[in-house]
Amino acid sequence: MKILVTGGAGFIGSHLCKSLLDKNHSVICVDNLVSGSLNNINELSKSKKFTFLNFDITDLPVINDRLDYVLNLACPASPVDYKYLPVETLLTCSTGTKNMLDLAVKNKAKFLHTSTSEVYGNPLEHPQKESYWGNVNPIGDRSCYDEGKRFAESLIVNYGVKYGLDYKIVRIFNTYGPNMRASDGRVVSNFINQALRNEPITIYGKGTQTRSFCYVDDMIEGILKMMNSKERGPINLGNPNELTIGKIAKLVIKLTKSKSKIAREELPKDDPIRRKPDITLAKKLLRWGPAVPIEVGLIKTINYFANI
Ligand code: UDP
Repeated sequence: MKILVTGGAGFIGSHLCKSLLDKNHSVICVDNLVSGSLNNINELSKSKKFTFLNFDITDLPVINDRLDYVLNLACPASPVDYKYLPVETLLTCSTGTKNMLDLAVKNKAKFLHTSTSEVYGNPLEHPQKESYWGNVNPIGDRSCYDEGKRFAESLIVNYGVKYGLDYKIVRIFNTYGPNMRASDGRVVSNFINQALRNEPITIYGKGTQTRSFCYVDDMIEGILKMMNSKERGPINLGNPNELTIGKIAKLVIKLTKSKSKIAREELPKDDPIRRKPDITLAKKLLRWGPAVPIEVGLIKTINYFANI
């Protein structure tokens, strides 16, 4: 198949491009490099089946290849980015997604969109099932991402209604692994980089807030299974192993044998208190579930950051 991957130079996108190439597909990777990196795709660029286009999906696409599949991953996704790129984030989710949907319709291609657990906001239901509509502050600090992604889901579903588009939506929960940006500001990359330098580990708030972390290889397998399924979703993809942020800090210190101490910082506004996916649907419909234990995934991620 000829597959377009938006956000293909990003953290998850680059792993997905690699897996698709390994399966002998032709990949057109589109990225404006605002949060992605050429380092993530250097190796992939050696393949004749890989094309990179430095391109912002909010601009009208100049892609004349006949496409079989559009995988829409492009979007700044870190809370740090929300501060600096709020309008860009909203436009990527709206105009950018619309441009990619039009491209899929024109090509009669299938469309897979990576949505997010952030559509559930600060959830009042725990764990979060796909049927939960969420608790989102529409004008809060995270709203550019949360509402952008919610709008994108609605747009996609309605392209299905209006144009008969064959779409799929997955909602990705916290994911970690190699190719994350060191300066991403996310908890796993921050803690590992701080620990490797024996600098203070910055826990925001009490550290009792929870997240559930999925290793990137598991996530890619879930996305590929969804891509090849007959399902439309939305389907949650994530690891239900829920941990407090304090526990993650301790684990990282132990695994890096770091001398770092804990430093408390203020909890950002609208920071969700708990998050854990209910993956019953993914298990049943895709026969998918995460396999990589947190210690194993963290060691691989630590090795990556120690060597870049
Ligand atoms: N966090 C933290 N220290 C950091 C970075 C993040 O305590 O250096 C906390 C953050 O407040 C949140 C959790 O870790 O409660 C996960 O943050 P991240 O930005 O990784 O993802 P998200 O909040 O989008 O799930």
